Amino acid sequence: MNHRIDDATAGVPGFAGIAARAADTDASGLIPRQNWQDLRDCGYFRLFSPPELGGAGAAPLAQTAAMEALARACPSTYWSATVSALLCVKLISTYGDPDKHRRLLEPLLSGERLAAFAVAETTASSDSGTFRTKVRPAGPAGGGFLIRGEKSKITNAPNADLAVVVARRERLPGDDGPAWCLAFVDLFQPGVHRYEIPRMGLRGMPWGGLIFDDALIGEDDIVPVPIEELAETMAWGWLKNSFAAIGLAEAALAASVRHARERVSFGRPLGHMEGVQAQLADSRAQIDAARLLAQRVAVERAAGQSARDRIAMLKIYATEMGVEVAARAVQIHGAAGVTPGHEVERMYRDAQMNVIGGFTTNRLREQVAESLLGPAVYRAFDWTGPAGLGHDPAGLDGFPQRAAA
Ligand SMILES: Cc1cc2nc3c(=O)[nH]c(=O)nc-3n(C[C@H](O)[C@H](O)[C@H](O)COP(=O)(O)OP(=O)(O)OC[C@H]3O[C@@H](n4cnc5c(N)ncnc54)[C@H](O)[C@@H]3O)c2cc1C
Repeated sequence: MNHRIDDATAGVPGFAGIAARAADTDASGLIPRQNWQDLRDCGYFRLFSPPELGGAGAAPLAQTAAMEALARACPSTYWSATVSALLCVKLISTYGDPDKHRRLLEPLLSGERLAAFAVAETTASSDSGTFRTKVRPAGPAGGGFLIRGEKSKITNAPNADLAVVVARRERLPGDDGPAWCLAFVDLFQPGVHRYEIPRMGLRGMPWGGLIFDDALIGEDDIVPVPIEELAETMAWGWLKNSFAAIGLAEAALAASVRHARERVSFGRPLGHMEGVQAQLADSRAQIDAARLLAQRVAVERAAGQSARDRIAMLKIYATEMGVEVAARAVQIHGAAGVTPGHEVERMYRDAQMNVIGGFTTNRLREQVAESLLGPAVYRAFDWTGPAGLGHDPAGLDGFPQRAAA
């Protein structure tokens, strides 16, 4: 079924074919070819880009309505397509060169090719200090660059054509540029190996690792960038995850309302029980609150404002809300809700993935708190020392310092 993106904004339920295939997508672990065709036909891949790049130039609320509609239809398809069309395209168009990188952007915007954004590694990925993937010049006389390392837990890794990789840069003497770079890596070449990672939710979404064993990167496809600056553009990913949660929660609430109308207990539908009513009302209020915040953030971003902390707050609120709403949906369905293959069982598994993907919500809470308090100082907690007893470790409150061991 073909439908245009503006249908979604007009409130017409879009992506009906993709929704009808969502259970199979989860069970088979594969996004059907027809889903990609539907997305190409409706212009989803061009949705987030301005006309000068070949995009649709859609208004921010048209973008958010389409994101929510696709996430509601099939979270796995939504994740895979939106990582490429939104996050990777924003990264290439923000940091790349409009002329040199048009060859990378156009196939992503048409949906002929798919991209992955590779930051995380096998180490604790909340902490970029643990990342080891490195780019070095292929030779002293130019000839491009070589990349070596392993990226893990990456959306689209098993099937992407191109990866936008965050890597360290080996700097030659005299090069005082940033220590990090974005590397645009062609994934169909001998130095690239891939693997898939099994997971509880988003099972249709391709997800796994990329091993770079001296894969070759063209001269133009390394862009040195300070890592703090990258965080600003990576926030597009938090917006993506938030709409994944909002769309999923709306689908879980719709299933809950249907069941509460149809299932009869003690001679009346479940929806006539106060406990169930309260659960439905809480879900309704939370979804609407998340959507309003998300729309505000999307409009602020489109107006060129940073909105980074607000996107972090949104990601925390929306993705955790998605888990709560999905859990209520399972509860309202009783044993049917915990039966493999039931739609709310799938939503419950998918919902938790949104909380961790991108940046985890506990990590983002730190960012929000630091924007309120200033940078935090971390120390090992020693309950026998003066700090552990609630006194100033510098001794400024007059409490005697512990003798150095
Ligand atoms: C669905 C999904 C899709 C993903 N897609 C991509 C992708 O496309 N590209 C990509 O690069 N990565 C991707 N990831 C990886 C994701 O970014 C990481 O899983 C995430 O950043 C957390 O890293 P970790 O799993 O290594 O957990 P760890 O960093 O080991 O963290 C473990 C736990 O400790 C907590 N923690 C760690 N540090 C702190 C801290 N300072 N304060 C408070 N709590 C902390 C975390 O919140 C978490 O609960 C994806 C993950 C998922 C689940």
